[in-house]
Amino acid sequence: TAGSGNAAGAAVSTGTRPGVHRGRDAVFVGGRWRPALAQGAIEVVDPATEQVLGRVPAGGPEDVDAAVRAARAALPGWAATAPAERAAVLAAARDLLAARREEVAATVSAELGAPPAFAAAVHADLPTAVLAGYAELAGTYAFEERVGNSRVLHEPVGVVGAITPWNYPLHQIVAKVAPALTAGCTVVLKPAEDTPLVAQLFAEILDAAGLPAGVFNLVTGLGPVAGQALAGHPDVDLVSFTGSTAVGRQIGAAAGGAVKRVALELGGKSANVILPGADLAKAVNVGLANVFANSGQTCSAWTRMLVDAERYDEAVRIAAAATAKYVPGDRIGPVVNAKQRERVRGYIRAGVEAGARIVAGGPEAPDGMERGYYVRPTVFADVAPDMAIAQEEIFGPVVVLIRYQDEDDALRIANGTVYGLAGAVWGPDEETAVAFARRMDTGQVDINGGRFNPRAPFGGYKQSGVGRELGAHGLAEYLQTKSLQF
Ligand code: NAD
Repeated sequence: TAGSGNAAGAAVSTGTRPGVHRGRDAVFVGGRWRPALAQGAIEVVDPATEQVLGRVPAGGPEDVDAAVRAARAALPGWAATAPAERAAVLAAARDLLAARREEVAATVSAELGAPPAFAAAVHADLPTAVLAGYAELAGTYAFEERVGNSRVLHEPVGVVGAITPWNYPLHQIVAKVAPALTAGCTVVLKPAEDTPLVAQLFAEILDAAGLPAGVFNLVTGLGPVAGQALAGHPDVDLVSFTGSTAVGRQIGAAAGGAVKRVALELGGKSANVILPGADLAKAVNVGLANVFANSGQTCSAWTRMLVDAERYDEAVRIAAAATAKYVPGDRIGPVVNAKQRERVRGYIRAGVEAGARIVAGGPEAPDGMERGYYVRPTVFADVAPDMAIAQEEIFGPVVVLIRYQDEDDALRIANGTVYGLAGAVWGPDEETAVAFARRMDTGQVDINGGRFNPRAPFGGYKQSGVGRELGAHGLAEYLQTKSLQF
């Protein structure tokens, strides 16, 4: 494998699943793979088989501290590089990632449980597209501008602490690291404990791309240990976190106390609003696919489907029939771990107790799946907007169908949660759908089945977060401005 070539933590053999990275017993600090200072390891489990796939170090505060020092030491040099030089490194990383597509896909498929085709097309290719976008932006972005008699400089914020979740393991990393590097920042990454293997592959890729030592550092470890040490480190200038609202709130509070920059990408409970006159079958089918992709573990998933009273029963019939085609193990993978499986099943039981009606799926284990953290794709009808299953992020393959009376009622329901990350509107024409989308309190809306755009800003209104990721808006998070007056 590409890497810094030192002996510490040489990659373990790939065993029975071809192409799967099994983990190095090392952290990547100051441009070298070295044994962690802290004792202990994290076992990475394949959610489809419940077998241990590999091991990585459980880094501690001393490892985080060493990584932050390395990032601080590398900052002046990297911040002073010409944007074209940073663009060249990002372009090299993009090419290396594309060249290792199969290995990346196999590794994410193994540690997350994603079906192989989805792992390749999304978990490997989306980060490649994001890297490509930043390689281009690094060469074209106006890092200096004129405002009247002033020259405004957009300078890197400094040392970034990045903390990422397991749901899109590499995408979430690249969505932070690529703009941070483009800006001229240096980074310490603490990836999710469930999916640290692809993070190690990415460290190898950045190293091989020619990134100077210390500009990117990787410390694997547990959230309340390594994650907390990174979020609270006094020499980190900006903490960028994606994950649960509970942890995000703690990180935001700590950042407020220390007066440091923070970016938070938190949960969602996005609405898929199907207006009268829209193509109902298409809206329902695409809506289900949006949620069931990645086994419902997508923060922007359209987990609430809003249908007018007149066509509600028809929508329920279409949804029930379509869901039967999502066979666990084949088209839909397991959820990431046993805790998430129990959490999702708990929500399904809570929905039944609250009086909602299951029209597909249910809390039982899928037939013939004794092994693996599988959940039945589940559709609820007769859901009241205030039920827990209609308000809280379930993070599993569960869709609720809510009936609305008129457009104002639909808008009240769509906006009636603490979240505002994404959503969809289906209308009889684009204009009607856009008019509705303008009234939604949410950060991203797909109009009549729009395609995901990795260069458009992504992020939340309300409690879905603070700040934006991707594209030029995502880059701006990692910059601070200085005005020179003439
Ligand atoms: P989490 O917030 O606990 O984990 C996210 C990241 O934060 C991981 O790297 C973790 O190690 C780290 N972390 C955990 N505790 C920390 C702490 N005290 N200080 C610093 N870092 C810490 O999320 P989870 O437990 O893996 O998932 C729970 C729920 O979060 C899910 O069910 C889902 O609702 C939500 N979630 C949202 C997203 C998203 O993309 N918005 C992603 C994953 C999970």
